[in-house]
Amino acid sequence: MTAAAGPLADLLRALAPPLDFLAADDFRHCDRTHLPLASLQDRVREARPVVSGPVRAVLDELAQVLSGLDERPEGERVAALRRAHALLESLRGAPPSLPDVTEVRRRLAALQAPVTTLPQVGPKRAAELERFGLATVEDVLYHVPFRYEDRRNVATIASLRVGDEATTQGRVASVRQGFSGRRGRSLLEVVLHDEQGALVLVWFNQVGYFARRFHEGQRLFVHGRIEAPLGNGPARMVHPEVTELGAEDAAAERAGIVPVYEKPTAMPVGVMRRLVQSAVERAADQVPSGLPPEVARRLDLPDPSSALRALHVPAAAADVAALCSGQSVAHRALAFDELFLLQLGLALRRSQAGRESGRSHPDSRRLIPALRARLPFRPTAAQERTFGEIAADLAVPHPMRRLLQGDVGSGKTLVALLAALTVAEAGAQVAFMAPTELLAEQHFETIHPLAAPLGVETALLTGAVKGAARRQVLAGLADGSVGIVVGTQALIQAGVDFATLGLAVVDEQHRFGVLQRAALQRQSGASAALDVLVMSATPIPRTLALTLYGDLDVSTIDELPPGRTPIRTTLCRERRRDWVHEQVRAEVAAGHQAYVVYPLVEESEKSDLRAATSMVGELAAGPFAGLRLDLLHGRMKPEEKERVMRRFKRHDFDVLVATTVVEVGIDVPNASVMVVEHAERFGLAQLHQLRGRVGRGTAASHCFLVAPDWMAEETFQRLRVLEQTTDGFRIAEADLALRGPGDFLGTRQAGLPPFRIASLVRDTELMRAARDEALRWLRDDPTLERPESAVVRAVLAHRWAGRLELAQVG
Ligand code: ADP
Ligand code: MG
Repeated sequence: MTAAAGPLADLLRALAPPLDFLAADDFRHCDRTHLPLASLQDRVREARPVVSGPVRAVLDELAQVLSGLDERPEGERVAALRRAHALLESLRGAPPSLPDVTEVRRRLAALQAPVTTLPQVGPKRAAELERFGLATVEDVLYHVPFRYEDRRNVATIASLRVGDEATTQGRVASVRQGFSGRRGRSLLEVVLHDEQGALVLVWFNQVGYFARRFHEGQRLFVHGRIEAPLGNGPARMVHPEVTELGAEDAAAERAGIVPVYEKPTAMPVGVMRRLVQSAVERAADQVPSGLPPEVARRLDLPDPSSALRALHVPAAAADVAALCSGQSVAHRALAFDELFLLQLGLALRRSQAGRESGRSHPDSRRLIPALRARLPFRPTAAQERTFGEIAADLAVPHPMRRLLQGDVGSGKTLVALLAALTVAEAGAQVAFMAPTELLAEQHFETIHPLAAPLGVETALLTGAVKGAARRQVLAGLADGSVGIVVGTQALIQAGVDFATLGLAVVDEQHRFGVLQRAALQRQSGASAALDVLVMSATPIPRTLALTLYGDLDVSTIDELPPGRTPIRTTLCRERRRDWVHEQVRAEVAAGHQAYVVYPLVEESEKSDLRAATSMVGELAAGPFAGLRLDLLHGRMKPEEKERVMRRFKRHDFDVLVATTVVEVGIDVPNASVMVVEHAERFGLAQLHQLRGRVGRGTAASHCFLVAPDWMAEETFQRLRVLEQTTDGFRIAEADLALRGPGDFLGTRQAGLPPFRIASLVRDTELMRAARDEALRWLRDDPTLERPESAVVRAVLAHRWAGRLELAQVG
């Protein structure tokens, strides 16, 4: 889009002739020349919204210069016209006006056209494509090749060697249908000739389709792996990729770097390729860039149209290795585009909270100093730093949305308590929410003895608190006498009303969502938005945190309090299990307790459940004879689970045989040993979480990871990270690199948008750059309201409207 069309061009066309005319004899005729002032002013107004900031400043001055021009004395009028002419000159040099948003919207809508609008896609094929995740033309355009074949070197048949993946060409000498020997599968053999050699192309099954495709004399271009000849016949290629060369085709046109696409199983490779190519022809040039031009320039990135072309129709001289590894400039451009829009959307949600009004809770001068004086230890530097970040949020009159993450045992509770005391001192209440009754009780037992001596009343509210006790807590919340309440979901219930709730602290984020926040807000007794502090013991690599929790600010406790005895971790094979059991018996003999953990995978829940259940009996009858055992698994009712955990905590039994339900922050200091069976079935981060259940007391603790004897050495070695480090972040990074974000922690991460091009593992640097650029853009235009942001806004709404609840944008 250039200045030749559009309101800026219209303005120039109206303004330039009279002003140039006047300027030609130095404005001597200005009294005799009539300027259509009113209509010029209209044109200035029309141009204003489509130009960038600096140009807009010029237009504003021009409007001022022109206003009331006719009424001014002659001297002033000449000066004004001179100035107008100077402004005209700078408008002529102005960058082309911004793209027309209406046009961008039209293009975005066109990209949404169903695949049936592409040639040769009928309802049946469309259904097949839709099941495969390609419903629109845009989906197809962004379905980028997963690899490339370098067919730039076409070998002669005689030069082919068994084992090579090669490209060659020749003429069909014969076509034969038959059956392959032992299994009697139908078989098609096509013999291909060139001047010096012969090659047999072989197909099993689907023979009818291929048999119809080939005939003697036809010229074919084939690609595949060369296999050894049968007997002393020619070498073979099984299920090669074939392109028929028409009489007019020069071989070179079929060569080059050929993209290969993922496709529905039954769809031939070539059909998918042609489909994508037709989408490229039809629509690649229609894709508008979501990146502001100045950002694209700064990063030197091509626009998405040319990037898509570069991926789907690689240039003959392209770098195949870069294309195959997803590191080409085109990949980077598209990935950046994707990440930029993601970060922009997330930052917008965050800043929306930043504009909402909330309570201001200034720094504590009384309660925190008093607490510090009583603490038996000094907070770590990381605790001080993260609390500093939180205190800054609390002080401003906008709601806090912050994630506090730190490894198991890093001391998150103390940091949360400091936040709670700050809010209490400012006269508001704090709700501390845990996922289970047991965890709520645990928190209460930590917080109550520290807060009560400071004169801050604390209360516990769970489903188990009933009758008069419950009524008393509810009254204390309603009249404001309870400063800190610790509880479960029971806190978000009808009948629980706060005098003034200022802060919600939520342990283990995955149980707390937008709805709960809204419910608490309703009960808060305040119109100002709540401060929310979410705590997570799952260390998340920073790049992933930026995505998963992009709408939260993140504080990280990255050191453990001094003097901890690190958990010793030993990885071993099943054949050493007897020895492991001996270690467990020794610990129990010394008065300690043990966990034995079995995997539980959703799909095979039943069979694993049986395994854990039956193992209790087997262990009790065999290696752990004489010890007291009990069972905990995910199929049990919450009350049952809590009863078992409570009994374990009281040391009513010695060995807890469990599934991963022990993962959540339960604290049994006397448990000093854990055995994880089938360690290979867990993610590294999950294993790290699990073993955090031991090592919570003063005794040295041990974790045994047992993997099957038959397991590949390579897989076995991966688990060694856990022996080598107890740094949750390093482990999380390793896990992310091994398994990718989808499998991270063995859970499907809700809210992680599927990336089309970007990879969280490969593109960590790009993610950082995208975030920086998104924040920089929003610094200048926090609500995307300036004309420069109009296109960004339209593309953002298009890209993420469904997934990121960005309905408010665009
Ligand atoms: P987590 O981050 O896993 O929730 P907790 O807050 O439960 O960790 O703290 C674990 C233990 O460390 C608690 O017993 C707590 O009293 C102790 N602790 C916390 N901060 C410090 C510190 N700065 N120095 C020594 N011990 C600390
Ligand atoms: Mg904790």
